[in-house]
Amino acid sequence: MKAVQNETDGRRAVVTGGAGFLGSHLCEALLTQGWDVVCLDNFLTGNPGNVAHLTGRPGFELVHCDVTENGHVRGRVDLVLHFASPASPVDYLEMPIETLRVGSVGTERALALARDKDARFVLASTSEVYGDPQVHPQPEDYWGHVNPIGPRGVYDEAKRYAEALVTAYRATHGVETGIVRIFNTYGPRMRPNDGRAIPTFIRQALAGEPLTVAGDGSQTRSVCYVDDLVTGILALAASEHPGPVNLGNPHERSVLRIAEDVCAATGSRSPIEFVGRPVDDPKVRRPDTTLAREVLGWHPAVPWQDGLARTVAWFEETLRTAASPAPA
Ligand code: NAD
Repeated sequence: MKAVQNETDGRRAVVTGGAGFLGSHLCEALLTQGWDVVCLDNFLTGNPGNVAHLTGRPGFELVHCDVTENGHVRGRVDLVLHFASPASPVDYLEMPIETLRVGSVGTERALALARDKDARFVLASTSEVYGDPQVHPQPEDYWGHVNPIGPRGVYDEAKRYAEALVTAYRATHGVETGIVRIFNTYGPRMRPNDGRAIPTFIRQALAGEPLTVAGDGSQTRSVCYVDDLVTGILALAASEHPGPVNLGNPHERSVLRIAEDVCAATGSRSPIEFVGRPVDDPKVRRPDTTLAREVLGWHPAVPWQDGLARTVAWFEETLRTAASPAPA
């Protein structure tokens, strides 16, 4: 079996969804490790600004394309990281068909690219495959509790299908595949309006608006800083492990506590406002990361207060720049 080593000797990676939140951090980390990187994105939920600092760097190429329709890449490819997909509930509820298509057709095209190039393939799957879990914390062998016709089904089932397809390409075509199940991740380059709790709270806190906490805020999330996550993804890519492997921070916090910490980190006096909980919103979410520790030697290292401070600093800068008048 062919593993992708860290010694890069001109190796080339393709990152679908590379202009998104996670994809842009992956492109950056790969370039830093010496890889050449081809970033494929249709800017559905990402934008070229996320990789503007990489454009022009030797070895980096940004290609505007929809991976459900195209995505052929000329020349050598050693690694395909398939990250294209709307990921926040606001996005996939607004674009249900696009979400199902990129999880199905898009995943098959990306797998075919890996097969044709004899490259390792890594799928960005999600903790959402566990649905509203009845087992807590969630180990990889838990099959999940998903409502296929609920509003979130378009995302959860697209990813479950994608996992099945990856498994079939491995068995049928011998593609060297890996699956990461990513739990909630936060950090710079999240969109302030993407509807996920942390960017929403930070945006509201910086604007002096009330922080809108769903339900009574007792539902929990385990949030992982993006740098930790990227380290885990690249460790899985460099291994021969087929996964699925959970990647996330096992430290669980209530959503209310997250809102209070955001208030403290921003120095905001915004009040908390309780609003209705979305349909099928999971009550608890915490990865069992035993497998990641055992097979990848991975565990998250960035403390919550540090990650939050870095994220707040990025949002402050970004929102200030957006608000300042354009030069005449
Ligand atoms: P994101 O929306 O910021 O990035 C997704 C990127 O994919 C965007 O740049 C978007 O334009 C692109 N894209 C979507 N459809 C495409 C298509 N048909 N062709 C080409 N590009 C397309 O989301 P993210 O948070 O960076 O998530 C990236 C991946 O990680 C997704 O697959 C998501 O399911 C997975 N994931 C993310 C999280 C998280 O906490 N951020 C958690 C679990 C799983």
